[in-house]
Amino acid sequence: MFFLNKSDLDKKFKILRVNLQSLGISEELRGWSWQNPPVEPPSRNMFFGVGDLAARYCKTLRDIYLKKVENIKPPPNLKMFEGIVYHGVATDAVTKVKSILFEKGLIGGADIVEELMPRVANACERLTWDALNTVGRLEDKDIETVKKKARSFYRFLLVQAASQVNLILTKFPHIDVDSLVNQAIPPIVERKVDGSLVGLSKELSADVYTPAYAVADLKTGEVRDFHPYAPTGYALAIEADEETAVNFGMIIYIRLSAQRPVPTIHTKCFLIGDELRREFLEIRDEAFEIVANARDPGKPAVCPDYCPYYPVCTGQFK
Ligand code: SF4
Repeated sequence: MFFLNKSDLDKKFKILRVNLQSLGISEELRGWSWQNPPVEPPSRNMFFGVGDLAARYCKTLRDIYLKKVENIKPPPNLKMFEGIVYHGVATDAVTKVKSILFEKGLIGGADIVEELMPRVANACERLTWDALNTVGRLEDKDIETVKKKARSFYRFLLVQAASQVNLILTKFPHIDVDSLVNQAIPPIVERKVDGSLVGLSKELSADVYTPAYAVADLKTGEVRDFHPYAPTGYALAIEADEETAVNFGMIIYIRLSAQRPVPTIHTKCFLIGDELRREFLEIRDEAFEIVANARDPGKPAVCPDYCPYYPVCTGQFK
């Protein structure tokens, strides 16, 4: 994405390429090996969202049982709400910058800022209410704090995009709008992927960082050790659907604070190697078994209080 430091990422992927050469990735664990175990799904009639499998707050997979067998949704949750709003901000900002460039032609960064900055408050208001419709009711003071952080994130993204547009325009004086958009605004693009060959949903949306062909995931909450599973799931789906190797994953952590004018951003880049692939496939197979047999797997020894189902499993929410 345009707010990432490209040369910093290039260095990280250079190291990962060396790791890939020395460690390799087993052919049997590539998504295109979907006709045979361990990639072949246990059933061709059941599909999971990558998020359902990858968000491993619960070690026993009871969250999957509650969602898929008992049809219980997690109760309204501030973290989930924030995630939806900030993802919406990133998508909206990128779309608006692209639209204004296609509408107005080769305009500079200052014009982009002038056109779009006055619309930020309304856009954040709309995104917040859309997210509330998905998540459910939350406290007014929390909603206001999230709106404030969303506005500051949106403004940051517009300034970053405007600066990228200026950089490209100064470098290529004869560029056309199409190339300007392509060079200044990606390189992360949303790709629709059919994951059904590996037991995942038929219409997944994966973000792909094109220079390294790495699957990227944007996170706005805490760092969790299970975060690499989501890019792993998308990598298997892309390999199955398109027969294209996906070797690397990237998590973009964005931390927003009401006290800071700009977000803190850091990236974790990793090889989607055999171990991660095996772990993801084991989770998938266990989830199939739980749902197929409607089996409650019970609680783990410790339930993290940040698990979205914590209020359900501890009886605080009926
Ligand atoms: S609260 Fe505990 S048992 Fe329930 S889904 Fe979360 S981790 Fe699993």
